[in-house]
Amino acid sequence: MRISNIISRKKTFSFEVFPPNPNNSSIQDIFPTIDALGQYAPDFISVTFKSSGDYAQNTIDLASYIKRNTSAEPLAHLTCGALDKDDVEQVADTMRQEGLENVLALRGDKPAEYTGDYLKYFKHASELMDFLRSNYDFCLAGACYPEGHIESESLYDDLVNLKIKQDMGASFFVTQLFYDNNYYYRLVRVAKKMGITVPIIPGIMPLTSTTMFNKIMNMAGASIPFEMRVLFDRFRNDKKAMYEIGIAYSVNQILELLANDADGIHIYTMNNAKVTGDIYNRISSVIEKELR
Ligand code: FAD
Repeated sequence: MRISNIISRKKTFSFEVFPPNPNNSSIQDIFPTIDALGQYAPDFISVTFKSSGDYAQNTIDLASYIKRNTSAEPLAHLTCGALDKDDVEQVADTMRQEGLENVLALRGDKPAEYTGDYLKYFKHASELMDFLRSNYDFCLAGACYPEGHIESESLYDDLVNLKIKQDMGASFFVTQLFYDNNYYYRLVRVAKKMGITVPIIPGIMPLTSTTMFNKIMNMAGASIPFEMRVLFDRFRNDKKAMYEIGIAYSVNQILELLANDADGIHIYTMNNAKVTGDIYNRISSVIEKELR
């Protein structure tokens, strides 16, 4: 089913997963996690794509597994920056053959192993969307950035470009992670003013360990609220406390977003069904009421 059909009826509850590292695991290793995540009845599960285009088949295989074995619709990511037009065509053809109907069309970042300019045929995600809508019949989604994309001079410029993605066929957007909901509210407010009418689904990344916290701190573009930082600093050597704080923070973030009429909830699961379940179980009645 096209996710746009679900979105036309109701707000969505959804997850992101990634194919396991092919150097030390096989795609089957993630299947029990997908089965466990399926228990929470997400409307869709998105599957990441490596920006170099290597292992594209793993994204497709995982999305196909989701389609066959859960009640969720798969949303396959496809990044275009480092790919030739032929490579994009090959991936899109295979997605179509597999019956995948939903694509999150992205530009992608420069692959770690590349030096110099990496952009090949498509320079922006909107060009990929234009190409896909002209040659295929996918339901298209795009990415957006509550604190602005790191390469953008301003949030305004970023939103001008977001509007182009809508014009090129995006039926909805999923946001980059954020920890201060005010960035999401601002994004939605300004986007609406600029004529963006499709849903903007907030992406929530639970931070449940010191390793994850440090990773996010080093990642440009996501501010950590003062209170969260204080708690994570104070309890950085206490695994149990870090976990409890992370779950509680995500739960509060989701509740506040729902109270403010957010366009759904998308959880970056990091392939961790326990974390996702611990969040879901604490607010399952609210999720059932607001997002079913
Ligand atoms: P674009 O929409 O092309 O935007 C990139 C930059 O170019 C922005 O600054 C934008 O303002 C600017 N821009 C856009 N269009 C124009 C234009 N027409 N003219 C001038 N400037 C323009 N990465 C992966 O490698 N794999 C994944 O699976 C993946 N999944 C993601 C999922 C989500 C929900 C999000 C938020 C990000 C994801 N990313 C993923 C990261 C993403 O690829 C990077 O953030 C990348 O730098 C930008 O991708 P984009 O599709 O947003 O690009």
